Amino acid sequence: MSYPNQLFLAGQWRDGGGGTFADLNPATEEKLTDVSAASPADVDEAVAAARAQLSGEWAALPGSRRGVILNRVADLIDRDAELLARLEALDIGKPVGQPAVLDLPNAARTFRHFAGWADKITGQVIPTDGYLGRPAHSYTRREPVGVIAAIIPWNTPLMITAWKLAPALAAGNTVVVKPPEDAPLSILHLAKLIEEAGVPDGVVSVLPGLGNVTGQALIDHPGVDKISFTGSPEVGRHVGVAAARSFKRVTLELGGKSPQIILADADLEAAIGGTAMGLFFNQGQVCAAGTRVLVHRSLYTDVVDALAGSASQQVLGDPLDPATTMGALVSKKQQDRVLGYIEKGRSEGARLVTGGARPERPGYFVQPTIFADVHNDMTIAREEIFGPVGSVIPFDDPAEAIRIANTTTYGLAATIWTRDVSAAHALAGQVRAGAVGVNGWAPIDAALPWGGMKSSGVGRELGWSGILANTEEKVVTVVL
Ligand code: NAD
Repeated sequence: MSYPNQLFLAGQWRDGGGGTFADLNPATEEKLTDVSAASPADVDEAVAAARAQLSGEWAALPGSRRGVILNRVADLIDRDAELLARLEALDIGKPVGQPAVLDLPNAARTFRHFAGWADKITGQVIPTDGYLGRPAHSYTRREPVGVIAAIIPWNTPLMITAWKLAPALAAGNTVVVKPPEDAPLSILHLAKLIEEAGVPDGVVSVLPGLGNVTGQALIDHPGVDKISFTGSPEVGRHVGVAAARSFKRVTLELGGKSPQIILADADLEAAIGGTAMGLFFNQGQVCAAGTRVLVHRSLYTDVVDALAGSASQQVLGDPLDPATTMGALVSKKQQDRVLGYIEKGRSEGARLVTGGARPERPGYFVQPTIFADVHNDMTIAREEIFGPVGSVIPFDDPAEAIRIANTTTYGLAATIWTRDVSAAHALAGQVRAGAVGVNGWAPIDAALPWGGMKSSGVGRELGWSGILANTEEKVVTVVL
């Protein structure tokens, strides 16, 4: 199999000036390919091409035509879904069935959703007191922000690229994408689909490279109007500071330490299934992973046992084998980080119920791990682990559950398991999180706004909020 490994710069496939970096298969530790890296000069060129299209062929296209092109991208994702799923499995280590059921349909749906918005981005006519005694006609326009730098993490790269590209393009922006160095392949294939769909040259460039070189050149670039970043809070803070220096618009989608609250009246079977998915999907490398499982004390032992049972039923193995339910973590760095947190959990006195080690096999695997008797002030309950590690914490009443749930610097997602509709709405209102699921873990859909409170981020993507985030509002007043 040959892998896409060049830059897609202003409509051309070519090597970058920044050398190459090795892209590994984390399940075998073998090299897949050497990927060409973009230099700051390549970034200059891509930004210039993107700026030129803001008054070029792209700017002249009506929204309905942009919508046609976005629908074509969606159809091409569907056509190549099998290949894209395989690329993500090889590059990230996730079981091939997971991108097939989540990331790829979601990416295609996102392009279709925003294809629908492209010709419906309207302003308002606003009555005023007039101008110096004369009547006036005032209206607003929603205009593209301009050139957007889209910086992508490795955990769900294709889906997150779709979340940034589709609303940006629907609103008439141009975009330079920086894929993650650990998993650039599916985004590079998406660039081929963007080319095939007829997106004019320069509207989208895809520049693989290192974060502190290619990414840094992009966030510092004076020709970039907005940075749309998804990744860690540490890099997110750095991006936010860079944006502030030149007043770039910025959206930050950062990490999480999301609670899953199981009330005493929950449908236990459904709650266990959903909670386990929230812990182990994508090896726990999910920003919305429900890593703090808060359980009513009456169910505590049952839930700990059942989650340990779910962990032991996970099939660790080759991500391309359909029987595999849990693949490898993305890198040695990530494996070491997760094992370090497990050690910290043990040393701080949490009870290791199952897992806790790397299995005896090549690849960056970590066993699915459950800790019980966790206190919310322990490191494993406070910091984002980004691996298959769950902390189970008991509570005695819903008020205590909310207090524990909200005692975190994060606020991305929360899940509530209950049969009591009133309790569900009350707790959904009280928990500080950008997205709350009741009786289902982390529902995501292109029509729903996505983003976090507190350290989980700034701004929202997707839905109408995604259009607002990708447009500037202008007011025009005509004195009559
Ligand atoms: P990361 O912050 O290390 O890297 C993210 C991206 O930033 C990469 O493309 C990287 O190359 C780039 N980067 C690094 N340094 C840079 C710099 N100086 N300038 C510009 N760009 C730079 O994050 P990661 O390890 O790839 O992803 C994991 C993190 O992402 C987790 O914290 C996770 O919670 C978060 N995440 C959040 C969401 C969300 O929607 N909130 C979704 C997925 C992942």
